[in-house]
Amino acid sequence: MSVDQPQEQAVALRAFQQEKRQVWARDRDTGALLYLPDGRADGEVSPGVTWRSRTAEGRLLCPIPGCGPFARVVASPSRRHHFAHRSGADHARGTGPETLWHLSAKELLARWAAEEPTLRGWRVHIDDTPITVPDGWRRPDVLAVSPDGATRVAFEVQYSELTGEQWRERHGFYARAGVVDIWLFAHHGPQWRSRAATGSARRAELAHHDPRWAAAVGLRGLHQAMLQDGVTPLWLDPTARTVGTATALFAPAAPPCGRPSRLVRDPALYVLPPQQDFRACYVEADPLEECRIDLAAGELLTPARVRQRLEHERLLGDQAAARERLAALQEQRSRDNEVRRQQEQQRRREKAEAYAAEQEEAQRQADLRASQEQRRRDEERAAALARQQIPLLDQYPLLFNEGPAPAPPRKRGWWPIRRRRQR
Ligand SMILES: [Zn+2]
Repeated sequence: MSVDQPQEQAVALRAFQQEKRQVWARDRDTGALLYLPDGRADGEVSPGVTWRSRTAEGRLLCPIPGCGPFARVVASPSRRHHFAHRSGADHARGTGPETLWHLSAKELLARWAAEEPTLRGWRVHIDDTPITVPDGWRRPDVLAVSPDGATRVAFEVQYSELTGEQWRERHGFYARAGVVDIWLFAHHGPQWRSRAATGSARRAELAHHDPRWAAAVGLRGLHQAMLQDGVTPLWLDPTARTVGTATALFAPAAPPCGRPSRLVRDPALYVLPPQQDFRACYVEADPLEECRIDLAAGELLTPARVRQRLEHERLLGDQAAARERLAALQEQRSRDNEVRRQQEQQRRREKAEAYAAEQEEAQRQADLRASQEQRRRDEERAAALARQQIPLLDQYPLLFNEGPAPAPPRKRGWWPIRRRRQR
């Protein structure tokens, strides 16, 4: 059945609000429990019969055993439509709402199981069929049995305290008996600690929120044990006929534990079941009628769980893509390193070659200078040798004259001769 948007929002808003008004009534004639949908106090319980007329006739009883018929149906624009007792006849002082809720929860589950497509044709039992194994027995709140009796689904609506070890023991019992067990926690009492989740110190696990989520709830050892065993905790609100799924928005690579990360908008956030060390989570409310049984997985598949599975697929895909990117990056990096290494080698080789060439040139220059020097020395030596060969008198005649050289004879008449020639 499709639910339009305003109704869906109304369900999300009204579910898990600890509604204590009575919305279930037992038909005096048939003994069946009847559910009063919200806003339908003026409507019909069956064709031609209104809730008001039925109540006025005193044929709608309070489901609490021993309590009498309801006095009236209350239709209010602001509050949820509900049944009211006669003044003074209220049993609330003696019997808490737990009894009523537990009764209606079992009735609601049995009715839903009878309509659920996977369980079509199955027999549904409330509180009356024990399951036995050689070392013990248990009686589930609701039990659905396949036509051939081979497959059984047990529903446990847990209202009282339960430790993780006790749950594991019972879960193990159903596994040994070959029974699929579905656990639904009460939307109040010890299994519903909304104040623990939203107390003064807001938890890092609740940093990211989706406005569709109905409430925040504290997680205890029991829920953490379930999460460790791969079971997502569920809650049931029989007044709103909704199932709440434990859910959280987080980046699995960096769980928001320890340092609060509420200001960090991580780009890679996924809607997933809380991690096993989370101490709080959100509850996504879905109408029970939209939930299905997954026999293979052994779980109640709420629309929220379907979304979580898709998100899990997306996460696995993203992780595989990230691994591929990382591998490609590392390959590219090693390629770059190789290129750099080769370039460095080339550079060193060129540098060494340049150095060798420089050395060679320097050597050549030194050799040249040495040979030039040698040649100069040889020439000097040759010159010296040659000088030794010439008689000293020829070389330095002046050294050998006894006195100053005689002045040359003065020639007279040199000028007139020249003048004469010019004429
Ligand atoms: Zn009553």
